[in-house]
Amino acid sequence: MRKKIVAGNWKMNLDYNEGLGVFTEIINMVKDEVTGAQEAVICSPFIHINSLVQLAKGYNKVSVGAQNAHQAESGAYTGEISARMIKSIGAAYVILGHSERRQYFGETNELLAKKTDTVLKHDLRPIFCIGETLQEREANEHFDVIKSQLVEGVFHLDAEQFGKLVLAYEPVWAIGTGVTASSAQAQEIHEFIRKEIAAKYSQEVADSTTILYGGSCNPKNAAELFACPDIDGGLIGGASLKSRDFVDIIKAFN
Ligand code: PEP
Repeated sequence: MRKKIVAGNWKMNLDYNEGLGVFTEIINMVKDEVTGAQEAVICSPFIHINSLVQLAKGYNKVSVGAQNAHQAESGAYTGEISARMIKSIGAAYVILGHSERRQYFGETNELLAKKTDTVLKHDLRPIFCIGETLQEREANEHFDVIKSQLVEGVFHLDAEQFGKLVLAYEPVWAIGTGVTASSAQAQEIHEFIRKEIAAKYSQEVADSTTILYGGSCNPKNAAELFACPDIDGGLIGGASLKSRDFVDIIKAFN
């Protein structure tokens, strides 16, 4: 059985105190209301991580992650944060390849392959994002785009390393737009991704890979999306900033 995960991506939102407040509410609600074996993850700005890890201590249903890491081990990279630093404060996950990083910070599949290696080296689990733009979907290029993101970004890993990844299918046209992929559209791509993993590694590896859906997921549409056979949870942007909404999405697995 593969792990079910609902991960929140706070992006560049919530100051320090606001973040601690929302996280405390999330932990309390998860303790009281979540009955299944699903894991919740909050990927916060770097400044929150240490405190969130302390708040989540001793409670294995909620983990903390970062939203980026530099590909180098250390060095003269002013303003950057390394995977080793992230590991040293107790985070468990790092989002890599989010479409906003690809679009605004020019992150390529080649760079993301290096970041993936560094993050794995420090025993952190990448949540590796892939997905097509609207233009690519309209040109019927979405399967090719997703395949290249897999091949160039993560298929250099051996099966053991690959087993530590979480994948997130995030159609760029659905992120922050209020337009969600239909469950049929999402399932079609998730099934395609799993088949590609089986062809590259094995059916066993494919069956144990957690693949999240991201893009305007909310408490109303989560249950239908998560009921699809190849959708193992969500990567949640806007709705993860509101504790009630985020926990209601997590509870779609109860
Ligand atoms: C995201 O940024 O990963 C995301 C899915 O955002 P939203 O849920 O706001 O569409």
